[in-house]
Amino acid sequence: MILTKNFRDSEKAKILSDKIKSSVKNDLEYNFMEVCGTHTMSIAKFGIRNLLPKNVNLISGPGCPVCVTSQSEIDAVFNLLDNNDIILCAFGDFLRVPGGNGQNLLDYRANGHDIRIVTSPLDCIEICEENDSEVVFVGIGFETTIPTIASLVKIAFEKNIENLSLMAFLKTMPKVLELILSDDDLKIDGFLCPGHVSAITGISIYEPIVTNNKAAVVAGFEPVDILYSIYKLILQVNRKEFQIENLYSRTVKNNGNPLALQIMYEVFEEADVEWRGLGLIEKSGLTFKKEFQIFDAFKKFNIELKYVSFDNGCICGEILKGKVSPGKCDLFGSACSPEQPVGPCMVSSEGACAAYYKYGVQN
Ligand code: SF4
Repeated sequence: MILTKNFRDSEKAKILSDKIKSSVKNDLEYNFMEVCGTHTMSIAKFGIRNLLPKNVNLISGPGCPVCVTSQSEIDAVFNLLDNNDIILCAFGDFLRVPGGNGQNLLDYRANGHDIRIVTSPLDCIEICEENDSEVVFVGIGFETTIPTIASLVKIAFEKNIENLSLMAFLKTMPKVLELILSDDDLKIDGFLCPGHVSAITGISIYEPIVTNNKAAVVAGFEPVDILYSIYKLILQVNRKEFQIENLYSRTVKNNGNPLALQIMYEVFEEADVEWRGLGLIEKSGLTFKKEFQIFDAFKKFNIELKYVSFDNGCICGEILKGKVSPGKCDLFGSACSPEQPVGPCMVSSEGACAAYYKYGVQN
């Protein structure tokens, strides 16, 4: 049995911190992106930056699913509620994300809308069975969550549940990573690849990273995991020998979870989707396959995704691209805080702004 405390051992962390300090070349600047929002939180929570030399920079990437949900997608949910008497189900984080109308789902709930927090997409089955009303689940997630969302659809299909549909805002990692790799403004030397996503996809999705001469390490989420992964990234950069190293093998198998991938692609197929700050990215998400489109809330309620653009001062988009850190936003910690979030990066438990604010990261 692997004990978490082994991965939080301060002695081990100190040894790794020293190894990192003695490995870096002083004339190099090392820029590593942590793609996953859970890594962003762990790095802030355990003060990892304070254990690194000044020329090792950790940059947060587009790995928080609520944060990368575009404003058009968020506003489609409010549009649905404005025009239909439904039960809306969503994960808790999403309820505090502001729509373009300045309101969030908590405001809508206070105004009498039936909005419920679910901890698993599968909770919607019971809600459907107990109610005659139409139930709509806001399905937001990466490869980590998508198999469970696909299971919800399959179960509803098999049980012939007719009052369920989904607003599916499903995003996948490979194409967004390619986009980041092709951005010449971003001088990324290596990636802390997301452990949870990798547990589903396997590690081959990171091939483009190493073929572009960048370092890639699949990392766990405890401080010792993260420090060891950073150490290995530094070694790859120093040696200019790039390979995908799976340092989270206690959870991630190199070929991922074939069963989860099978159900995911049984229900959904690739689609071009919009990411906050990154725009429309070809084949970077999933949509319903034809036989499951009866569960597509956009079709059921005849809703269109309308591109919206408004400037409320939030620069989440730039943060998600890794171009700036949260402290560069004029609203950070003043007009925008977890109590009164202006953008999704401050709302989500995986958002970079929330992480920096909660743990007082200086940037
Ligand atoms: Fe947006 Fe708030 Fe983050 Fe600024 S601090 S980028 S307003 S979420």
